[in-house]
Amino acid sequence: MTTTTRFAPSPTGRLHVGNIRTALHNWLLARKHGGRFLLRIDDTDAERSREEYVDAIRADLVWLGLDIDGEERQSARLALYDEAFEKLKASGRVYPAYETAQELDLKRKIQLGRGLPPIYDRGALMLSEAERSTKEAQGIAPHWRFKLDHDEPITWVDGIRGQQKFDPAQLSDPVIRRADGSWLYMLPSAVDDIDMGVTDVLRGEDHVSNTAVQIQMFTALHAAQFSAKATSGGDPFPRFAHEALLVGSEGKLSKRLGSLGCDAFRERDIEPQALVALLARLGTSLPVEPIAERSALVASFDLSVFGRAPARFDDDELARVNTAIVHQLPYAAVSDRLPDGMDEVAWLAIRPNLQVVGDAGAWWAIVTGPITRPAFDDEDKAFLAQAAQALTWSDTVWKDLTNALKESTGRKGKALFLPLRQALTGMEHGPDMASLLPLIGEEEARKRLQLAAS
Ligand code: GLU
Repeated sequence: MTTTTRFAPSPTGRLHVGNIRTALHNWLLARKHGGRFLLRIDDTDAERSREEYVDAIRADLVWLGLDIDGEERQSARLALYDEAFEKLKASGRVYPAYETAQELDLKRKIQLGRGLPPIYDRGALMLSEAERSTKEAQGIAPHWRFKLDHDEPITWVDGIRGQQKFDPAQLSDPVIRRADGSWLYMLPSAVDDIDMGVTDVLRGEDHVSNTAVQIQMFTALHAAQFSAKATSGGDPFPRFAHEALLVGSEGKLSKRLGSLGCDAFRERDIEPQALVALLARLGTSLPVEPIAERSALVASFDLSVFGRAPARFDDDELARVNTAIVHQLPYAAVSDRLPDGMDEVAWLAIRPNLQVVGDAGAWWAIVTGPITRPAFDDEDKAFLAQAAQALTWSDTVWKDLTNALKESTGRKGKALFLPLRQALTGMEHGPDMASLLPLIGEEEARKRLQLAAS
């Protein structure tokens, strides 16, 4: 079966770095196996879902270079959920419940007060036919719960966490549908995973107990012959893997990470390749490396190297990876972000000095001038006047110039190079002068040396 993964964001906000990581890992897993990577927009919550977020999610995936092989929207698939619901109802796996939110809250408080886990007591299953009719007659519409099978433990071999085992009696029968007919996340997701042929569900470990419940849903849907579609590995459910959560460098689940998205990275002029290279390896036993080549990240992607400890996201590490990535970027990858006139030769000369691509403009402005230079003392002025005279243009102009001046003045090291650099660029540090000087050009270079000398 073709490996099929999905990224299933709810369009109730912008993607944050945690979602981006999940999307990336699902993309890598699909690409590694030559499979499909699907985008599923989980927009059953009509109230909170926004079209602008759907657009932003798509745009973010494009920016990240995570191409999709298909897109589905849950809001367009409601008939399918109805169908599954009816089948489960017919097989006795969903039941109506009439408790109000306040009643449920009170039950939970009583349980907690007695030191018991707040598991739903299945009060609705205890209602007699007459009691149920009375509720209906009072106009109380039920919400619906999925009835967990308590007979056997729920087990699966998690791609990251290994063997997993849950006692279903320790879980509440989940509410799957509200009284107004709207859906909660659990059932539609399982239905879609079946219908879309998802073979691998890779998501955060905050979903582990959802998986336990959903495994019973998959099994129940399979038994109810909801879909004839085959499943992976002989189980009626996909393979599951749950990755450790992403935390801030301070080691805590931070609010900041929850709002850190592609816009913020773009604002900092972070390359998508840098973010991808970092997030591909964070939390694994493989080193974080500035790998710009997607195929190399795909080839090394492996669930078995994922650790159980939280993955730490560190801004400084991202900045370092970004710098190393920038130093590899070819001109074609950045040309539309460079100032007018800055060609490939200039890019290659300036690139090693950049932390972010956006800084190229400042160096280009130094090449084209005008520049502000520091004041030189008389000795340096005389030296620079000599430099202006000695300047003979060639392919090796910088080497020739400095060799000639070394010979004629006896200067060497810093005393030789620094005044020249300062006179020509106004800066104490910067790109290799052998590459930079040709960009400045003969006439302009001579003029700068003369001005510095005067
Ligand atoms: N919409 C769900 C979420 O964002 C999807 C979870 C899943 O991957 O099944 O949490």
